[in-house]
Formats: sequence, C-alpha cells, structure tokens
Amino acid sequence: MTPRKGERPPLPEPLPVPTVDAHTHLDACGAKDADGVSTVVDRAESVGIARVITVADDLAAAIWAADASEWDDRVFAATAVHPTRTAKFTDEDKAVLEELATRPRVVAIGETGLDYYWDYSPPEAQHDAFRWHIDLAKRVGKPLMIHDRDAHDDIMRILHEEGAPERVVFHCFSGDVEFARKCVDAGYVLSFAGSVTFRNAKELRAAAQLVPLDQMLVETDAPYLTPHPFRGRPNEPYCAAYTLRDLAELRGEDVGDVAAAVRDTADRVFRLPTVTSHDSGGA
Ligand SMILES: [Zn+2]
Ligand SMILES: [Zn+2]
Repeated sequence: MTPRKGERPPLPEPLPVPTVDAHTHLDACGAKDADGVSTVVDRAESVGIARVITVADDLAAAIWAADASEWDDRVFAATAVHPTRTAKFTDEDKAVLEELATRPRVVAIGETGLDYYWDYSPPEAQHDAFRWHIDLAKRVGKPLMIHDRDAHDDIMRILHEEGAPERVVFHCFSGDVEFARKCVDAGYVLSFAGSVTFRNAKELRAAAQLVPLDQMLVETDAPYLTPHPFRGRPNEPYCAAYTLRDLAELRGEDVGDVAAAVRDTADRVFRLPTVTSHDSGGA
C-alpha cells in the first residue's frame, strides 16, 4: 500500500440522515482497544456515519474484528482471510474462522475473493480459499464480502461454479459499466469506496450511476483510498460522508435520500439490528 502522508482530512458537513460505512479496517486506522474504537466511531457518528463494519484481512485481525464488534454497539465485523494471505491457509485457521462466523455481531464473511495485483499468494491458493469462504458463507447463512482486484472474470466464474450465497457484496467495486450491469443483474450489491470520487476514474464513475440504490453501499476501506480532494491522506470512517455526497451529486440525487437508501441496503444485506432510538415501535 502507498504510504499515507499528512493530517486527517477535516470533518465534513454532517449528513442529513445517518448511514453506514460498509467496509473499514478499524485496526489499521490505529484503534487498538475499546477506547480507540470509540474514538474513531465517535468521529464518524458526529458527521452521520452512525455504524461501521470493520473487516479482517488475516486471522489475528479476524479475531480482533470480532472482539471489537462486541466493545461498541455501533460496530459490526466481517471475518475471513484476505486473498493475499492465503498462501498458507491451514485447517487450524479454518476452524477459527468457522467459530468466528457464527458470532452474532459478525455480519459477513469477508474480505475474501481474488487479488491478481499483488503477488503474495499463488492463484490456486486464492481460488481454493475463495471457494472455501463461499461455502462457509452459505453454511452460516451470512453475506459474502468480496475483494476483487483485477480478477472480475474469475470471481464471476467461481461464484457461478460454487453457487453464490444468497447475499453477495462487491467491496470497493472497481469494474466498468458492463461489469456493474452483470453484477446488478445477478442481484449482487456494489459497495463504493473513495476511489469512485477520483476524477480520473471515468469508467467507475459511469458504473456508479447505473446501480439501483437498493443494491448500493458506501464504504471507506479506511485507512486506504481517501476520497477526493484528500487523496493520499489518512482515511477514516467519517470520510464516508465525503464519498456519499460526491456519489449523490454524480447521480443527481438528494444526499439525504442516498444516505437513507444506503443505510437501508446495509441493514437489509447485513441484517443489522434496528436502531431503537429512531423507531417509534421499538424492536
Ligand atoms: Zn479489499
Ligand atoms: Zn478492505
């Protein structure tokens, strides 16, 4: 990953409606314990990013993410071994992931998938691990959160061969219009990170305009992919508000409508518990 320099971007104007950062790495943002987690999530909540899903990339991070989701009721977890970490994926690792996957606040199996950009794990090891995670998602009835870097065709092929879980999310969607249409038609959910705000991301920005709101999520993938105009500076969940505003403008839609729709998509896909303070009936 490219080093991130400088200070955190300023806090954006708060969103009119609270929403969700669907994919972040709180540990890589510097949070170590319950206090660190609440500091980052407080900052996010102050601008309308009311809940976050923190995602693991290796086994230790998976255990940490599952624990962190129990420290703060605004945090949920996704657990898996990242495709770049699959060169040595042991039966012991799988047993740990199977246990984590059953925890109630672990709301997705991820991030898993394929990464042909970095050369850390051979493709065969990545394919085997991806197939294993697909099967796990189906066994525990949780959504699959996919990392797809330069691997669109193989991702689709393996999903088709294995049979996709009922709920599939492409985190940090990076395809063009044609691939976005394929994903939308298959019923998959496309999650957009700060990369969609980059002014030279013409294909991706075009793709983001055709995704129905009930198949769209917004994420930071913090501390990476800080949105425009703060590219290269440290990212945090609060910066999802920048991406959401930019997406709303790009699509010609109201910011509040997009925030609410993305929140509803996240609640539905990850089966997040209802926030009772915004409820008349409770539950
Ligand atoms: Zn990823
Ligand atoms: Zn990630």
